[in-house]
Amino acid sequence: MSALHRNRPQPNPGILDIAPYVPGKSGAKGARIHKLSSNESPLGASNLAIEAYKGAANSLALYPDGNAATLREAIASRYGLKTDNIVCGAGSDELLQLLAHAYLGLGDEAIYSQYGFLVYPIAIQSNGATAVVVPERDYLADVDAMLAAVSPRTRMVFLANPNNPTGRSLPFNEVKRLHAGLPANVLLVLDAAYAEYVRRNDYESGIELVATSDNVVMTRTFSKIHGLAALRLGWAYCPAHVADVLNRIRGPFNVSAPAMAAGAAAIADQAFVERALAHNDTWLPWLSAELAAIGLEVTPSDGNFLLVHFPSDAKRNAHAADAWLQDNGFIVRRMDAYGLSGALRISVGSEEANRGLVACLRAFLS
Ligand SMILES: *Cc1c(COP(=O)(O)O)cnc(C)c1O
Repeated sequence: MSALHRNRPQPNPGILDIAPYVPGKSGAKGARIHKLSSNESPLGASNLAIEAYKGAANSLALYPDGNAATLREAIASRYGLKTDNIVCGAGSDELLQLLAHAYLGLGDEAIYSQYGFLVYPIAIQSNGATAVVVPERDYLADVDAMLAAVSPRTRMVFLANPNNPTGRSLPFNEVKRLHAGLPANVLLVLDAAYAEYVRRNDYESGIELVATSDNVVMTRTFSKIHGLAALRLGWAYCPAHVADVLNRIRGPFNVSAPAMAAGAAAIADQAFVERALAHNDTWLPWLSAELAAIGLEVTPSDGNFLLVHFPSDAKRNAHAADAWLQDNGFIVRRMDAYGLSGALRISVGSEEANRGLVACLRAFLS
């Protein structure tokens, strides 16, 4: 810090070390573009959710229900959960931040894996705590290495399952082994933003683990399969003592009324979710196979996106591919911030987007 600036207000320790999160690019207005950079729903949102959102327009002068009762009941009834153990937030991002804020401070450590979601270091460092980053094996969290990284200072472990940006997921027995190896005072945060997409039989999002322990929280989002990313809506399933903590520190009206109305309608519209899932079940394997067929290495994914690895020569590398795709109206995500500058993350899009993307990359590589 220069002497010149020493007298002005200073943020808390750690905050100026944070690398700001860089969202997926949006396209130039008007141009015909396919945005495949933020794992958004190619089917949009449920019509019932859209109608509920419009209905909320008649009451914009009123504060929302600070308890989010209707929404929490809709979530509880969909998954058979206890309403009191659900806390809603402005995106699961807010809930991750609130958890870090409540349980981390200066001198504490929080663990996440090498290619873990980049919101975790922001949440950790903004509370003065130290991020401990554990190497992965084959783009998958390594439970033994994570357990070996636990120290007396460890207070939290963040695990995205499936993980973004790798798309890989741990089977539930591995998640249980991770939990079993953690001290009872360490909070395990299972970020299950893509849980609805997973088709493997040995996967569980973490509901059972939350219900049977005192130190596990699962977070979920309406941004992905429900197609409500614009509304910023997520929820956490927590032990009662954690829900109590989050309810003390969250803003009293942290979720807006239109978001709650749309979310409650969305989670009840199982037919829409089934359509979104069927779309992904068709196009995720198609995209993987087509990209492999044109010579690209694709990490197997359990989500609605693919981590795609490019050759290293300057003409065909990931940066050249990204520029080429952008020139042709396809916006994907560079992975430099994750230390994966040789890869791009590509969301499953509409049929038109998927076919167009493959044709564009085929031309690029030939
Ligand atoms: C998209 C995503 C989320 C969801 O964030 P919201 O704030 O709910 O939109 C959470 N975790 C991961 C790993 C994600 O990819």
